[in-house]
Amino acid sequence: MKNSFCIAVLPGDGIGPEIMRQGYKILNILKKKYFLNIITKEYDIGGIAIDKYGCPLPQKTLLGCQQSDAILLGSVGGPKWQTLPDNQQPEKGGLLPLRKHFNLFANIRPSILYPELKQLSPLKTKIVDSGFDILCIRELTGGIYFGNSDRKTNLELKEFAFDTELYYAFEIERIAKFAFNIAQQRNKKIVSIDKANVLQSSKLWREIVESISIQYPDVQLSHLYIDNAIMQIIQNPVAFDVILCSNLFGDIISDECAALSGSIGMLASASLNINNFGLYEPAGGSAPDIQNKNIANPIAQILSIALLLRYSMKLNVLSNLIYSCVKTALQKGYRTFDIADCSKDYISTDHMGDIIAQLISKEA
Ligand code: NAD
Repeated sequence: MKNSFCIAVLPGDGIGPEIMRQGYKILNILKKKYFLNIITKEYDIGGIAIDKYGCPLPQKTLLGCQQSDAILLGSVGGPKWQTLPDNQQPEKGGLLPLRKHFNLFANIRPSILYPELKQLSPLKTKIVDSGFDILCIRELTGGIYFGNSDRKTNLELKEFAFDTELYYAFEIERIAKFAFNIAQQRNKKIVSIDKANVLQSSKLWREIVESISIQYPDVQLSHLYIDNAIMQIIQNPVAFDVILCSNLFGDIISDECAALSGSIGMLASASLNINNFGLYEPAGGSAPDIQNKNIANPIAQILSIALLLRYSMKLNVLSNLIYSCVKTALQKGYRTFDIADCSKDYISTDHMGDIIAQLISKEA
């Protein structure tokens, strides 16, 4: 049996390397204090890989990821590379093929609004007074983004375009089981999102989610149509625990939840395959507007390590420890620029990384 856990670290572009430095601080403390045998190896992806090797996902990077147990990503992209052809761009030619290569079918996006930061939410304080904690689980490798699509002009010279939502039963079963297993470890409530009053793919989605739910009698399942769900989340986010969505609906809902929780700089994301191999990353992008200013919020990157500990390493206690130290830092009033009450009163990226690392160190 392997006794070490190997992480391929891909800092990428923009704020990626700055926030990844804070991630290393956390990993180093965990290694030291908990004797975790984590080995990190760094590789290039995105714009930096284009500059160095002429392609956004070099063979060396892909091979390094294949030889690892998980991938920890910063972010990719920036204005310098956005005029390149699609398949040579940092995201389309680097990140998307990486996700596809590992068949990362399950995307997990926790959206947490800490009560300390409730004023950052665009919702009224009375709605979010106690904060909220929603986990959005999105099917990531099927549905309309991968179905047959085209844009053409017919013989009558009328231009048309189409995209096809196609779901195989096994794809719905797989993501539903994944969601139910996670719900069992939380508040045991799932809302499944569809448009079963109109779409055939949604009718199948609903039927299969219902049939899977029989195996999980302890989890309460309900269904919402996407249009209603969007409203209910805004009106009462506190009522939600796990939200289960197709690729398209998850894309919309996870961003809605992100917006409601204040800053994209606080949100981490995990994409997993059937073997719990995962890609862990901040939900936001490379933020070129704040690059090299030491003001980016490193919390999303730090929480992506918490997700890695939970979902790939099964170290829930350490994962919870990171979450609770982030909460403590916020309770003590530490804020980066994006979450500060007034723009003068904030600490740097490095400082926030140090504070959270110290808190973890003290807890240990
Ligand atoms: P973005 O998420 O990079 O930035 C949107 C806004 O959020 C900006 O104002 C930015 O300053 C802010 N922001 C993002 N992360 C932050 C953090 N940690 N702390 C504080 N503020 C933060 O989205 P964008 O501007 O649309 O995209 C910029 C680049 O990132 C583009 O090249 C895009 O293709 C790429 N991108 C990459 C990923 C990824 O790597 N997974 C995801 C989205 C976008």
